[in-house]
Amino acid sequence: MKTVQVSVVTPDGPVYDADIELVSAKAQSGELGILPGHIPMVAPLAIGAVRLKKGNNTELVAVSGGFLEVRPDKVTILAQAAERAEDIDVARAEAAKKRAEERLQRKGQGQEDIDFKRAELALQRAINRINVAKKNF
Ligand code: ATP
Repeated sequence: MKTVQVSVVTPDGPVYDADIELVSAKAQSGELGILPGHIPMVAPLAIGAVRLKKGNNTELVAVSGGFLEVRPDKVTILAQAAERAEDIDVARAEAAKKRAEERLQRKGQGQEDIDFKRAELALQRAINRINVAKKNF
């Protein structure tokens, strides 16, 4: 099987590097599947899972938005934050989910100072991390 070199990088440093047969990622325009030799492109990513398939093994990385850059021999995912499934602290994500839900519940109760869009994004990041850690994909 042909492979393509895949790197996931964040402001904190590299998170993932491997030769992969199929990369799936959640672009803002929908789910993308990238095979080796794909035409060059750049796509903005949504909060979601990146699936990295080689042989019978599929690894998952939780990505909190960013960009996917495809070149014939290399796929780079540049993310605000990214974690491999095994590095996710589920208790931390559950706590972040609870905090975000509490903020969102106060919507319409006169708490104009709360940034609901920010809470919605925090909730999406937390749910994504929980799903990736539990391999719910
Ligand atoms: P929290 O409120 O728990 O900080 P957050 O969604 O606001 O969550 P981010 O700002 O997206 O966190 O990430 C900050 C840093 O912490 C990043 O390096 C990210 O990879 C890491 N991180 C966040 N949540 C987790 C988690 N549940 N497990 C492991 N690493 C995490």
